[in-house]
Amino acid sequence: MLILMGTPDPGFLEYLMSLRDDARLLADDLVGLRRELHADPELGRALPRTQRRVLAALDGLPLEVAVGTELSSVTAVLRGARPGPTVLLRADMDALPVTEDTDTDLPFASRNAGVMHACGHDLHTAMLVGAARLLADRRDALAGSVVFMFQPDEEGTDGGGAEQMLAEGLLDVSGERPVAAYALHVAANRLPRGLFASRPGTATAASDGLEVTFRGRGGHGSAPHKALDPIPALCEAVTALQTFVTRRFDVFDPVVLTVGAIRGGTKANVIPGDASFSATVRTFSPTARTLMRQGTAVLIENIAAAHGLTARVDYRLGYPSTVNDAAEVTLAADTVTGLFGPGRYFSAPHPTPGAEDMAFVLNQIPGAYLMLGACPPDRDPDTAPYNHSPQAVFDDAVLPDGAAFLAQAAAARLALAGAGAGAGAGAGAGAKAGTKAGTKAEPGGRPRPARAPKADA
Ligand SMILES: [Zn+2]
Repeated sequence: MLILMGTPDPGFLEYLMSLRDDARLLADDLVGLRRELHADPELGRALPRTQRRVLAALDGLPLEVAVGTELSSVTAVLRGARPGPTVLLRADMDALPVTEDTDTDLPFASRNAGVMHACGHDLHTAMLVGAARLLADRRDALAGSVVFMFQPDEEGTDGGGAEQMLAEGLLDVSGERPVAAYALHVAANRLPRGLFASRPGTATAASDGLEVTFRGRGGHGSAPHKALDPIPALCEAVTALQTFVTRRFDVFDPVVLTVGAIRGGTKANVIPGDASFSATVRTFSPTARTLMRQGTAVLIENIAAAHGLTARVDYRLGYPSTVNDAAEVTLAADTVTGLFGPGRYFSAPHPTPGAEDMAFVLNQIPGAYLMLGACPPDRDPDTAPYNHSPQAVFDDAVLPDGAAFLAQAAAARLALAGAGAGAGAGAGAGAKAGTKAGTKAEPGGRPRPARAPKADA
C-alpha cells in the first residue's frame, strides 16, 4: 500500500486509527456546522454568511487565513513543524437556485426561499473544516504545508469560483505551488453510503453551451414564399445535430448534445423573423470537444445557408473535464483502505456526465477528485433523487469519514514526498504525479472562455 510504503514507521497503523477516531469525536461539531449551512444557503460568488461561519469554525487554529477580493472565498494555510512541499484540499460552499421539498421533513431545511444546498456543498465545507482541525492537531508530525480552499460558486451562478480563486493567487498562497490537490463530492444516490469512488484519468465531462439563432424574414403564414421561414430550418438543424453526434464521434469517446429550449414565433399564421435554440454539450476528451465546437458551427451555418437564412452560432466553453492523476488516485484509494479497511473504495468504470470546476485546479496540479456516497439509509441509492433535485437528501453521518480522508490524503502525500518519492524526486508514484500537470491543459480552455449559462454543472 502506497501510504505504508512511504511511511515505514510501525506505529503508522495506530496513527491512522487515531485519526479516524479523532474525526468521529468531531462528528457533533461537523454535523452542527453542516446543518447551519444547510438552513442558510447562499448562491454564487457572494456567500457572506457562509464565509463568516467558516471563519468562526477555523478560529483559534494555527492557520494563516485569507479571504477573496472578488468572491467570498476562504483560504487557510497550515504550516507543518518541518519544511516540505504543499498539498491543497478543496471544498465548494455554494448552493443552488432550487426550492427544497419540505416533504423530506428535515428539521434544518433551507430557510431561504428558492435556495437549497441540493448538491451537498454544505457537507463539503464541514468536512474540510474537520480536516483542518485534524491536521492542526497533528501539525508537529507534518513536513510541509496544507492549503485549505473554501470555494464559492462551483455551480457557475456568477461565472465560476475556482478560476477566480486561481486568478487571486490560490496556488501561491503557501509560498510554493502545491504538489497535489484532493477534493471530495458527496452523492445523494448511485453510491451506497460511505463508499468512496474515483477513477484515474477523466472523471467528469466538459460542459459547454450552444446558443443558436436562425435569422430569416417574417411574413404571413399563408405566403411562406414571400418570407424566409427560420422555423423548419431550425428544426432541421436540431435533428441534424443528433445525426452529427452518431456519425462523427467515436463510440468509445461519447458525447451528449441536448437541445433543452427552442424559441420562435408568436402565432400560427405569422412567420417569425428569427428563431433560436439552446443546447448543453458534454464531452470527455479534448478531441471530441474541439470537433463539437467546430463541427456544430459548420453544420448549423450550412443548413441555414441552404435555406437562404443566416445563423449565429455561439459555442460557449464552460467547465473542462476534471482529469485525475493516476498516481494520486492510487494514493487516495490506499488512503481510504488504510483508514476504513477493504470494501470502502470503488474504482468507477466511467466518468460522470456532470461537470465540476475543480477541473481548473486539476488542469494545473495533479490530484484526485472522489465521490463519497451519502445516500440516507432509508433510501435506495438506485432510486434516490439525484444531486440538484429538490428532494435530494445527504446523510451527514459521512462527515467524519470525509474529514478523516481529506486529512490523511494530505498527510500521506506530504509523507510520500518526504520519503523521497515526491514530485520532482525522480522515482515512485509521487514523482509521476508531479510531472503530469502540463499534460492536462485543455486546448479550448485558453484564453479565458465565455462562460456557459448557469446551472450547467
Ligand atoms: Zn456539486
